[in-house]
Amino acid sequence: AMKTRFAPSPTGHLHLGNLRTALFNALAARGQGGTFLLRIEDTDAERSRAEYTRDLMEDLRWLGLHWQEGPEADGTAGPYLQSQRGERYATYFRSLEERGLVYPCFCSDQSLRLARKAQMAAGQPPRYPGTCARLSPEEVQERLARGERPTLRFRVPRGRTVVFEDRVRGPQRFATDDIGDFIIRRSDGTPSFFFSNAVDDALMGVTLVLRGEDHIANTPRQLLLLEALGLTAPDYGHISLILDEDGGPLSKRSGALSLRQLHRQGYLPLALLNHLARLGHVYEDDGLMDLDTLAARFDTARLGRAPARHDAAQLDHWQRLAVAAAPDAALVAWLDHEAPVPAGQGGALVAAVRDNILFPADLNAWARRLFAPEPPLDEAQRGALREAGAAFFDAALAVLEEGPEAFPDFAKAVGRASGHKGKGLYMPLRLALTGVPHGPEMHRVWDLLGPERVRRRLEQARD
Ligand code: GLU
Repeated sequence: AMKTRFAPSPTGHLHLGNLRTALFNALAARGQGGTFLLRIEDTDAERSRAEYTRDLMEDLRWLGLHWQEGPEADGTAGPYLQSQRGERYATYFRSLEERGLVYPCFCSDQSLRLARKAQMAAGQPPRYPGTCARLSPEEVQERLARGERPTLRFRVPRGRTVVFEDRVRGPQRFATDDIGDFIIRRSDGTPSFFFSNAVDDALMGVTLVLRGEDHIANTPRQLLLLEALGLTAPDYGHISLILDEDGGPLSKRSGALSLRQLHRQGYLPLALLNHLARLGHVYEDDGLMDLDTLAARFDTARLGRAPARHDAAQLDHWQRLAVAAAPDAALVAWLDHEAPVPAGQGGALVAAVRDNILFPADLNAWARRLFAPEPPLDEAQRGALREAGAAFFDAALAVLEEGPEAFPDFAKAVGRASGHKGKGLYMPLRLALTGVPHGPEMHRVWDLLGPERVRRRLEQARD
């Protein structure tokens, strides 16, 4: 059965980039009736924070991306926090040590840096020169006795080619001669990313890993490691990165916004999900879909290799559709307690203005526009009302006295009585009743306000 995972490092808040990775993995599993697993990669004690773990779980749940296996969920392969898996890693370190597939490395950061510089200067790809691979057992003992704390390096077999089928990018080949012996345990005893990430995917039974293409060069290393440990590797698919409108990396200005900020701004889960699901994945349907439909139509064969562009206007497009699709009650919940909405009119307000708001909280501005004792008018709008003239509003008030039923009847009669037509008729009425030149359909405004409020507003416009 399909098992995917999201394996964030809790060193910051979720943003559109890592959230899309989570989403693709969740969709891949859900579409196949498989399992979506959450694993927290918190081996870097300095940068990892428990509150980021808590927040990211809250964010995933808010979006409906529930994991069946992981912290605070089921599963028998736990613990799901890597910081709690030290004993398991130790077993595998030992196995590699016993078979001579690893060696301690005493090289200082500085000497590694110098070696790298020299290689780059000579036009060679930087890779570990193998200095400590050749230490004699006596030398190793001596340096350990002196209290030096080595890292542990994996001995990469020479002269081989690692081949794998990337689920997004097709067949991949990497020559092991280009891969330097790499660190699998840091000098403080914690596992490196290469190691714990690969070992855990295997131990947790993950069958498919979708992750950013920035990880593709890690995959041959991880495959070699799993092979040496006799563990089963998952399939890998490396998804294209997300770029900004201008083709640069996601900046704070646009997509690097954290999910929390987007949530606070009022973006709805469905808008974010529909936007992200299409960044690098093609859906034939261009309508808003719920999570189950997104999952049912998700197909790794439809993941693109070209970088995906995040466009804030595109997110807003999905947001409009999500607002349009939201149940009235969900939107009514965004009305402030101070919003001047008459009792029982919340639903009607939502129905009238939902096409005119981007964020649910914008309802409050409409509530003030429509129900405040006086509509808030700026200078330009006052000017436009003066231009329509007192006689126009007198005519409108006289028509109102006759008790017209619906707005079209009222407007037609005002047109006849005043001689105004087209924009010259509708714009002053709209400004008088709503305070702004654009907004909901006037028949809805009319119904919402009722004759009493309409009269007061026409008088205010005239005076
Ligand atoms: N913790 C890694 C990251 O956040 C996981 C990478 C992966 O998906 O394998 O980049």
